[in-house]
Amino acid sequence: MKKKVIIFSAPSGAGKSTIVGHLLKKFPFLEFSVSATSRKPRGEEIDGKHYYFFSTDQFESKIRNGEFVEYEEVYAGSYYGTLKSEVERIWDKGNIIIFDIDVKGGVNLKRLYGANAMAIFIQPPSIEELRNRLVGRGTDSAEAIERRVAKAAEELTYADKFDKIIVNDKLELALKEAEDIVEAFYED
Ligand code: 5GP
Repeated sequence: MKKKVIIFSAPSGAGKSTIVGHLLKKFPFLEFSVSATSRKPRGEEIDGKHYYFFSTDQFESKIRNGEFVEYEEVYAGSYYGTLKSEVERIWDKGNIIIFDIDVKGGVNLKRLYGANAMAIFIQPPSIEELRNRLVGRGTDSAEAIERRVAKAAEELTYADKFDKIIVNDKLELALKEAEDIVEAFYED
């Protein structure tokens, strides 16, 4: 049994979480990699389900102990990373890991797992549309939205480092495209 991973990266607001959530419901052989983060829980987020929440000190001590496959300071002062223990936990069950991770982390994991990884970049139709979606989501302040939009513009330049690009203009089409990619990769 090959140890396979599927990586989803995108500027925030591109619809990545919706697509990942859909695939997890559809394919029982996929399991979500719960990341560690030093940011505070938001809204209804549950520790151990959406993220493993740690203080900055705890996170930095795990970095020093070499407990991460990869980590990034995605936003100033907020670490996000994939724990080795999480990857092993999922592979031990024979499942394929699905990652929802920032673009730099995505590129790093693709480099690490090579042909056993399918790296997919979700692209928003435009920066303007991205801003509208973040406003509509209603979870971020105006300042945080502008920060995310600026970051998105830079993140878009990484798209060509991924195996596949899905432009999320019409959600239904993007979901179908994602399903087809997962099925082909599973059978491969
Ligand atoms: P949020 O704070 O909105 O939950 O996530 C912010 C960003 O961090 C998203 O782009 C998300 O994909 C990314 N992220 C989540 N987990 C990880 C991780 O384990 N490693 C890296 N490099 N990025 C992550």
